Amino acid sequence: MDKEKAIGLVKDTEIFKNCTNIVVGKGNEKAKIMFVGEAPGKNEDLQGIPFVGAAGKNLDSLLERVGLSLDDVFIANILKCRPPENRDPKPEEIKAHTPWLLCQIEEMKPEVVCSLGNYATKFFLAKGNVDEMDKQPGITQVHGKVKDIEMNGLQIKLIPLFHPAAIIYKRSLIDEWEKDMEIVKAEVSQKKLF
Ligand code: URA
Repeated sequence: MDKEKAIGLVKDTEIFKNCTNIVVGKGNEKAKIMFVGEAPGKNEDLQGIPFVGAAGKNLDSLLERVGLSLDDVFIANILKCRPPENRDPKPEEIKAHTPWLLCQIEEMKPEVVCSLGNYATKFFLAKGNVDEMDKQPGITQVHGKVKDIEMNGLQIKLIPLFHPAAIIYKRSLIDEWEKDMEIVKAEVSQKKLF
């Protein structure tokens, strides 16, 4: 989508008015694997690039372990701007910011989407209906479970994963992450997506 038009969608949100930079995404826009996180943090806001802080460093090394690089994936967030003090996203912010993400998905046509953490996972499980997000199961229940979903006419394999920031604080999740990434790896190598 044209960037001016996309900014028009989010410009009335408080987080847009208070952010330093809009964080659109990074990686290969032609990749068939997309990772979707929650929202930019402080470092991402300052640099205008997703996942460059501590969670990003963790994500880089977790991707590297399974042989994936930024040439193979595209990484974005459900919110394009940082919520103050990294507070949780509000439903009206998700409603205003995700049409931009959906345009990115429509343009990229990823075959696999890895949702990172609760907010991104619930957004996809609710098939983009923000009012239905609360009814969806949490990441602890669904991580590593491949789900075929249809979003805007596109067939996607959704693979929910723990958020890389959660893994920093709870190292016991590393084993779970590694098992889940084996599932991602099996999906992408079977489909020859990289
Ligand atoms: N956490 C996220 O969900 N996204 C980022 O870009 C950085 C941290």
